[in-house]
Amino acid sequence: MTDNLAIENYEIVNDILLVSFTDKSDAMIPLRALREKCPCAACQGEKDALGNIYKGPDPVLTENSFQINGIKTVGYYGLQLFWKDGHDTGIFTGKLLKRLSN
Ligand SMILES: [Zn+2]
Repeated sequence: MTDNLAIENYEIVNDILLVSFTDKSDAMIPLRALREKCPCAACQGEKDALGNIYKGPDPVLTENSFQINGIKTVGYYGLQLFWKDGHDTGIFTGKLLKRLSN
């Protein structure tokens, strides 16, 4: 058993990512919200053992930053998004996608 959510299918409709999970639930997240919550170290900072967060300067986001060229699945539980501004290091787990959806 895992507490993660396996991704069954996904598609982009307009500016919204639709994801369905193998437990038959689904998620709908606007691309803009996904980019703002990008989980990679460059966007969210890296925590050291004491819980201090190290983060570089905020990346400059343009219109291209909120559009994607493609999506790749990573194992059963992750989606890697390829943003048009070249950013592609964030991997969104099923669990995170579910949390961002409302
Ligand atoms: Zn990022």
